[in-house]
Amino acid sequence: MKIGLIGLGIMGRPMAKNILKGGFTDLLVSDLNQAAVDDVVSCGAKQATNKEIGETCDVVLTMLPNSPHVKAVMLGANGVSNYMKEGQVFIDMSSINPVASKEIAAELAKKGVEMLDAPVSGGEPKAIDGTLSFMVGGKQEIFDKFKPLLETMGASVVRCGEVGAGNTTKLANQIVVACNIQAVAEAFTMAQKAGVDPQLVFEAIKGGLAGSTVMNAKAPMMIAGDDKPGFKIDLHIKDLNNALDCAHSVGAPVPMTAAVQEILQWMHSHEGGQKDHSAIAQYYEFLTDIKIGR
Ligand code: NAD
Repeated sequence: MKIGLIGLGIMGRPMAKNILKGGFTDLLVSDLNQAAVDDVVSCGAKQATNKEIGETCDVVLTMLPNSPHVKAVMLGANGVSNYMKEGQVFIDMSSINPVASKEIAAELAKKGVEMLDAPVSGGEPKAIDGTLSFMVGGKQEIFDKFKPLLETMGASVVRCGEVGAGNTTKLANQIVVACNIQAVAEAFTMAQKAGVDPQLVFEAIKGGLAGSTVMNAKAPMMIAGDDKPGFKIDLHIKDLNNALDCAHSVGAPVPMTAAVQEILQWMHSHEGGQKDHSAIAQYYEFLTDIKIGR
């Protein structure tokens, strides 16, 4: 199977290496960042243009920032789909607006090209380990055919419905993660202001009902004052904008998402956009004039 992968950033670069390690060695890659391309080429991939990828690959994968990037790469003037024909498949692994996923799928369907939207959860560490969680939308038979390819990058690959269902599931995931981080930051700030060590709060509650994967990953970062990304605040703002759009269009109220989005916006306007999303804690530290755990 010949595979094309466009987008070799924090996530796409290790994912490309896991595709190669998984035995899918006929891999063409492209990115605006030549250093990322060189790195993946040194592991066995070949550099290619949009035209070469569109004309020759059985399946085209993308791992790009947001909806406009995926639309430009696939449907733009020199977009990959200009060179694709019936029978080829497109799998978008980026986290984008599900409405955009459906629009791209509809355009590709005009040429007989099938699409899966297959965003991931797990971040850079799991992208490196090949243990990401995929949430996939699209036809069952296309999912079944390409599940083994996705399993080279992920430990869990679940079909959630038709095209768009993958990104809808990802938005649900991002709401839960953002609100959970906010709750941990708010609770630890209150504990410290009340004179209780947040590290001991963490030790005491992590095994109970309040414990979570988010708390286990992000509480130690807040306590250490470590804001190195991980997952950047600006990317989380992008996801929650998509969540708010989606929620408004289907008539679902999301007041908690709106509140945490305002905190993320405050972080963005205070030079926090490139920090890890656990730096939501810095908003509370600013308001209360403390440093959590320090
Ligand atoms: P990134 O910014 O590190 O990488 C994006 C890559 O796309 C860059 O290398 C950039 O050069 C490339 N690119 C942009 N436009 C391009 C174009 N026109 N042609 C070719 N290449 C182009 O982002 P990332 O962290 O790898 O995230 C990618 C996607 O995965 C996003 O949708 C993000 O929300 C999602 N995601 C990220 C994480 C995480 O922890 N970083 C976790 C889960 C999901």
